[in-house]
Amino acid sequence: MNGSPKGSNVPEASMAPPPAAANTTDAATRRNAVLARIETACAASHRAATSVQLLAVSKKFDGSHCLAMAQTGQTSFGENYLQEALAKQQWIADRWQGESLQWHFIGPIQSNKTRQIAEHFDWVHTVDRLKTGQRLNDQRPAQATPLQICLQVNIDHESSKSGCAPELTVTLVRQLAALPNLQLRGLMAIPSASTDLATQRGAFARVRALFKQCQAALKADQHPQMGSFDTLSMGMTGDLEAAIAEGATIVRVGTALFGQRAAKPV
Ligand SMILES: *Cc1c(COP(=O)(O)O)cnc(C)c1O
Repeated sequence: MNGSPKGSNVPEASMAPPPAAANTTDAATRRNAVLARIETACAASHRAATSVQLLAVSKKFDGSHCLAMAQTGQTSFGENYLQEALAKQQWIADRWQGESLQWHFIGPIQSNKTRQIAEHFDWVHTVDRLKTGQRLNDQRPAQATPLQICLQVNIDHESSKSGCAPELTVTLVRQLAALPNLQLRGLMAIPSASTDLATQRGAFARVRALFKQCQAALKADQHPQMGSFDTLSMGMTGDLEAAIAEGATIVRVGTALFGQRAAKPV
């Protein structure tokens, strides 16, 4: 994946000045701490530690931070802002010689951005309507492998959040699974913030229940994508334990890996 947004002079979000120079030792310490949290949470639920993938959410941190994280063995990165992500991908491509990195788009999707997302990412977690899926499908380059997608569900019906209404989930899954240049991998959700473990688990449990309904629907259809509908993208720095207890297979972690982000510029 390459190509840099040379023509863009209107960044969607400027990158925060690094809190400290990116440093591989610090990156390894923070990543090991997160991996230990994942391991402990998996053990508590009698799950294999390998059943949960750590996605490093690098928004607002520059390429040097991703590079330091890649040097510790991290290979998948999540980005929210397209222009920032494209610049970072290019910067890293010029410097990274190791195993190829996977880029996951996890931000809200505007229609005019779908082409570049389809061209420059491996995964998209934030598809929340059929139209977006159709555009990504049509714009995925012919020579590329199918774009891996998750349907984002607005599990707490929050007006401020993206995501489909929970009651539309099964219908949308059936429609998205029919698009040939996409591979529908599962569901993604960001519940409303809570520090209470029971509340966190309650929301993730509702996502898991929807996921099971979708699996049953694809199975009933004998759908060819049934076997690859295997992903629950849920859990962040503050609630990854609850998410793992409820079946998360990808946790998206930013703060615990990279530190505090600067406030989003308006
Ligand atoms: C920023 C972000 C994250 C990471 O959040 P942290 O609390 O910093 O771990 C995860 N998922 C999405 C969609 C995000 O936008």
